[in-house]
Amino acid sequence: MNYEITGKTRLLALIGSPVGHSGSPQMYNYSFQKLGIDCVYVAFDVGKEDVPRALDAMRLFQMRGGNVTMPDKTSAAACMDALSPAAEMIGAVNTIVNDDGRLTGYITDGEGFVLNLESNGIAVKDSSITVAGAGGAATAIQVQCALSGARHITILKRKNATYHKALENAEMIRKAVPSCDVTVEDLESLDAVRAAAAKSDIFVNATNVGMKPNDGESVIRDRSVFRPGLIVADAVYNPLRTRLLTEAEESGCTAIDGRGMLLWQGAAAFRLFTGLEMPVSEVKARFFS
Ligand code: NAP
Repeated sequence: MNYEITGKTRLLALIGSPVGHSGSPQMYNYSFQKLGIDCVYVAFDVGKEDVPRALDAMRLFQMRGGNVTMPDKTSAAACMDALSPAAEMIGAVNTIVNDDGRLTGYITDGEGFVLNLESNGIAVKDSSITVAGAGGAATAIQVQCALSGARHITILKRKNATYHKALENAEMIRKAVPSCDVTVEDLESLDAVRAAAAKSDIFVNATNVGMKPNDGESVIRDRSVFRPGLIVADAVYNPLRTRLLTEAEESGCTAIDGRGMLLWQGAAAFRLFTGLEMPVSEVKARFFS
């Protein structure tokens, strides 16, 4: 695969801080080369206060666009000329497309979650879903599941100082997607968790519970909550096999790990940048196994 940067090569970039650990440059550059697309992708360490200047540079350099990571996602949303429905609801962007100086912001995390389920033969449309958490990943998943036609969403949140986030997510979704019925329950009540799982097709953990170094923990504390046929997905990808997924699988559930969401949010961004499908199987084999 020969690849030469020319006078016509277009630039894309990840902005955020830190960015040095990101796998995005390898994933996108591999895909550009594989499909013969004349673009290169780099990472720039940009603090929150410098986001407007970075986006001016994106226009000035006629970059094709890029991605945004923490802590820049909300500052970047405020600088967009247009927002996708999900980005508008959440007030954050992780993907930017530059069309002749007009910047459109998208958030593909939730789409990545839905696309990953679809790649496993699981449809979100008309389903009933429980999502534990109300942080960045949980909000993106809740919003996208509603936009993708979920019939009912139960948000599980521990009752502490940030419980209001779950109530706000529910209100935001009810307003934007009235066809989706949303309820909020206490994550620490075993009865509430059991009732939510019993009426759900899909149960999602989008909290930090189960993530290293607390990988001995699970949001489902009693295995009797699981039932054969329940789909259990984890946003956590470190470790890949969380306690939640191990116990779910042992109880006859279908278990979906967090790596696919990461891969497919990149594939969704790639489609927005290029109008083409990312070579997902090759990228998965090369960078996600
Ligand atoms: P975040 O914005 O900080 O939100 C964390 C959420 O977890 C909050 O709702 C928090 O609630 C809850 N939480 C934390 N500790 C808890 C505990 N002990 N019991 C109950 N709830 C608890 O983080 P995030 O960005 O959403 O990330 C969450 C997880 O998803 C991380 O493991 C991250 O790596 C993963 N993630 C995966 C992807 C992917 O593509 N697979 C993408 C993004 C994130 P409180 O406010 O009550 O603490």
